[in-house]
Amino acid sequence: MAAQLLDGKVMSQERREEIALRVEALKQRGLTPGLAVILVGNDPASEIYVRNKGVGCEQVGMKSLTIRLPEDTTQDELESRIRELNQDDTVHGILVQLPLPRHLDEASALAAIIPEKDVDGFHIENAGKLFSGLPGVTACTPKGAMEMIRRTGVDLTGKEAVVVGRSNIVGKPMAMLLLQKNCTVTMCHSRTANLAEHTRRADVLVCAVGKPKFITADMVKPGAIVIDVGINRVDGKVVGDVDFDGVKEVAGWITPVPGGVGRMTITMLLENTVEAAERMLHG
Ligand code: NDP
Repeated sequence: MAAQLLDGKVMSQERREEIALRVEALKQRGLTPGLAVILVGNDPASEIYVRNKGVGCEQVGMKSLTIRLPEDTTQDELESRIRELNQDDTVHGILVQLPLPRHLDEASALAAIIPEKDVDGFHIENAGKLFSGLPGVTACTPKGAMEMIRRTGVDLTGKEAVVVGRSNIVGKPMAMLLLQKNCTVTMCHSRTANLAEHTRRADVLVCAVGKPKFITADMVKPGAIVIDVGINRVDGKVVGDVDFDGVKEVAGWITPVPGGVGRMTITMLLENTVEAAERMLHG
């Protein structure tokens, strides 16, 4: 294998130890950071994500609260539950597990969370702050991916970065963060012509598409940093968007799936929650 592995498990463990110290410092001042996760319905993948978030909270000494609402919850019921949590001083972070059942309006639910407690960073105010270069809560997956890129030690200034996927929760914030680090950023999507011509230029290639083996070795520049955000289930196994076995022979660094960006995402959620609690204490 030519590429160095960017191991999300190892990086997360180190970061969670730092977060645990910050939680302990807050506890000594009488504040236990708390994360509330709202799960509507019983999507099996969401159940796993919510459980992992609870385990993460426990690991760093935070309080976690899972609010399970039935599949037929109305928009009003969901948003009134969110408003209660907005008022609850023991809750510092609120997360609505996506996707919501089809009859519910995700954008409206996310907008109901006060931006200070929006630890997912999906609220339009936090997205706007990122766009404007103002301090705010950064979405967890791109934040985790940036931390993994930072660990390579590569100076990003002037580097070509290509982000494949333009969702509000991954692709767009990722592109903004790379831009902040002075990369020359290209965003690709399903209508991009000649995708491989773009990806082959990338010193940093981030893929968030949701298609297994979508990025193959011939699409990667030798020595590139390859960040695989995808989570796909194939024959009961979780795989990313990158053809790991082929691409690892070409790339300089690569993230595995599982044990890569997904693990870091939860760690950044914990970090955003501890930061929200610190802001509440310090004003
Ligand atoms: P979305 O479905 O919202 O976005 C997928 C993007 O991929 C779209 O912008 C789409 O383009 C683009 N796309 C689809 N087909 C192609 C194609 N043939 N060529 C180029 N681009 C294409 O997904 P998300 O951003 O929410 O998630 C992406 C993946 O990341 C999923 O596998 C998801 O499970 C995973 N994920 C992982 C997380 C983690 O913690 N590791 C967190 C969040 C997501 P267009 O806009 O034109 O339709």
